[in-house]
Amino acid sequence: MKYKFTPQVPGVKVMILRFLHLMFRGNKLYKQVHSTYIERKITMNTIDNILTFNETFVENKQYEEFETSKFPDKKMVILTCMDARLLELLPKAMNLKNGDVKMVRNAGAIVTEPFENTMRSILVAIYALKAEEVCVIGHHDCGMTGISPSAIIDKMKESGIAEEVITQLGHAGIDLDTFLTGFDSVQEGVKRSVSVIRNHPLLAAGIPVHGLIIDPATGKLERVVDGYKDLKQ
Ligand SMILES: [Zn+2]
Repeated sequence: MKYKFTPQVPGVKVMILRFLHLMFRGNKLYKQVHSTYIERKITMNTIDNILTFNETFVENKQYEEFETSKFPDKKMVILTCMDARLLELLPKAMNLKNGDVKMVRNAGAIVTEPFENTMRSILVAIYALKAEEVCVIGHHDCGMTGISPSAIIDKMKESGIAEEVITQLGHAGIDLDTFLTGFDSVQEGVKRSVSVIRNHPLLAAGIPVHGLIIDPATGKLERVVDGYKDLKQ
């Protein structure tokens, strides 16, 4: 699909709002309403809060305790879920610190096909960044368990994605049901991802591929695939 350049010209609504703002900016009540609106906009602006914090972080050299190299000290690449509960819990529960592993995250820790983005990251971690083991970590209560593609498509439509866009994608050969599918159980999801990685034609023999499941409440790990026992011959 070709990208069509559209110049950023303010719409009629914006022009009217600007005109009203100029007309009434001296009015006391308007001033009150306007400043409340601006205040709300500022307090809701997460990225501004992050950038403000970041200035102090760098100024105070708080990065010093995280200094490391790009090569993983534990020579491992982990594929796990993007679930927010695992952001800090997973490394803490595994005794991992900055620089220990390469971490790839996506929805559900899923590798759907041999030649897609997640698998590329894993191969790059092995061949360019000295990882020697792969570990897939799914988790209980994952959003990708029993996910309903039709419910997601409905949400897209509610958010303004036109029905005809969905139809056109279908005509272009994109099967959204498959694209948005997760797994029936996390055990099945982890085993499937491990299998795609282990059987990849570009994965060198001798690279173990492990499968674990983490509890997002307690951090407890459970092994579902022992990569050492199942080394590629
Ligand atoms: Zn998840």
